[in-house]
Formats: sequence, C-alpha cells, structure tokens
Amino acid sequence: MKKNDLIQLLKSLGVRPNKKLGQNFLFDQNLLKYLANLCCQNSYSLIIEIGPGIGNLTDFVSSENTKLIIIEYDRKLANYLIEKYSTSSVSVIHADACRINFDQHSNNIPFTCIGNLPYNFSSIILSRLLETRNKPERMCFLFQKEMAERLASEKDRKSYGAITIKTQALYDVKIVRKIPPNVFWPVPEVQSLFVVFTKKLSPVTPDLFAKLSNLVRLSFSHRRKKLISNLKLNYQTKSLERIFLKLNLDVGFRPENLSVEQYLDLAVALHA
Ligand code: SAH
Repeated sequence: MKKNDLIQLLKSLGVRPNKKLGQNFLFDQNLLKYLANLCCQNSYSLIIEIGPGIGNLTDFVSSENTKLIIIEYDRKLANYLIEKYSTSSVSVIHADACRINFDQHSNNIPFTCIGNLPYNFSSIILSRLLETRNKPERMCFLFQKEMAERLASEKDRKSYGAITIKTQALYDVKIVRKIPPNVFWPVPEVQSLFVVFTKKLSPVTPDLFAKLSNLVRLSFSHRRKKLISNLKLNYQTKSLERIFLKLNLDVGFRPENLSVEQYLDLAVALHA
C-alpha cells in the first residue's frame, strides 16, 4: 500500500494516529517483504502478531501453512481487521497485549511472536512474553533504538540492565537492521531497530527465572550503588560476603559488571 492510500484508509476508518499507542504505520513494501521473510524463517506452525495496525506486515506473513493470530488494541483497527480477514484463516483478537494470556492463545504450540511494537508498551509486552509458560521459539520485533540496544547490550555498558539479563537468560538476541523513520507514517521521532530473538537450547527453568527476576530487580534498584549494597536491602551482609567470595565476585562490582551467567550463579547461591 502506498503512503497516500494508507493515509486515506486510516482517514476512512476514523483513525487518527495515536502517539501513545505507538501508531506509526510501515508502508514501504520492500521493507515489509524483507521483514516478513525474517519473521517466517524457521517458521513454526503458529505466528502471533502484536499490533498489526491495518495488517501491512500481516499480509506478507500470512500463508496457508501457518496459523496466524493477530492482537490489536485499537477498536477501529480491530474491527477493520476482523472484516478484512473474515474469509481467511487469520484470527483477529481485539485485546491489550499488555494483559493478554499468551499461553491460552498459543495453546502449547511452538510459535513465533512478531510485531512492530508500540514503543510505550514494548518492555511490558516483552516481559510478559518472557514469563509465559509456552515461550515463543522466536521473536521478531521492531523496537525503538534505545530499547533494542538495552536488550542486546553487553555487560559494563550503560544500556545493560534488568531487562537485558532476563531476556538473555532465555534468548540469543540479534539486532538485524536499522529501520529509518521515513518508512513510517506518521514519521516517528525515534530510530527503530529490527531485533530477532532465538530461544536458547537450554533456557533457564521457570523457577530459576523467577529467582533471577527478583534478583535483578533488587540489584538494579540503585544503579550507581555497589551491587552488594543493593543486595543488603534483602540479605545479610555476612552471607553476601561469603557468596561473593565463593563465586569470585568483587565486592566493588556495580550492578552492570556481572555477566548473565554470573547473575544466574548468584541467584542459585542466594537460594541455596
Ligand atoms: N504493524 C503495523 C502497525 C504498527 S503501529 C505496521 O507496521 O504498520 C503499532 C500498532 O500497535 C498499532 O496498530 C496500535 O494500535 C497497536 N497497539 C498499541 N498498543 C497495543 C497493545 N497494548 N496491544 C495490542 N496492540 C497495540
């Protein structure tokens, strides 16, 4: 769909792009095709798309062999999509992806989750996906640059934080390409990056993931303090010192100085 057709269509639906909902629609056909291709690689029989908008990406992804569930929050867009896909196998769900029960919809089927995520909610939606029982095998998301960089960050960087560690405990994260603002309408003020997440061969267990989540929340509660000082809010100094010694961790470490592996070891040791 050309840019002018997109604008006309949204107008006829009475949709005025809403910044809060991250409504920046991708209209560059070549780019959509390219992204859809990436989304369908190693394709699983189910794809769940979040924030389909008018179905720009959906159209390139839908195929006979794949079941597609699309989740759109905007009522007008959802109604449009329900009609548009009424004769296809695409299931449209009018719901808030920040609250939806992904497990119920994926129904234990291995799946890929994709989307041009609303920037305001990307971290909530991702966190929810990380906590599902049936986690996506792959995720292909368009993120605001800063968010993408946080997710793919290495230790010792400013961008390294709780969400980085939680994500990388479960997924290999790869920034695939930059997406310039001028392929969207309206043009966003931010740069976007397309990120592919591949589930690790042996992702951490739900039990350890829960412990890790609590640990990183506490660890990064005061970013500029030493890690051990943050941990003292919940744990006794003596046992922390013993564990740091055992794991060969420097008591002078700041929260961003530990690798994902070290956080996992620490989570285990603290609950031993
Ligand atoms: N995928 C389309 C639209 C991207 S704009 C394209 O690339 O052109 C982001 C979309 O996410 C919008 O359609 C917006 O209404 C939808 N959205 C925003 N918040 C949402 C939420 N919490 N749950 C589901 N969809 C949401």
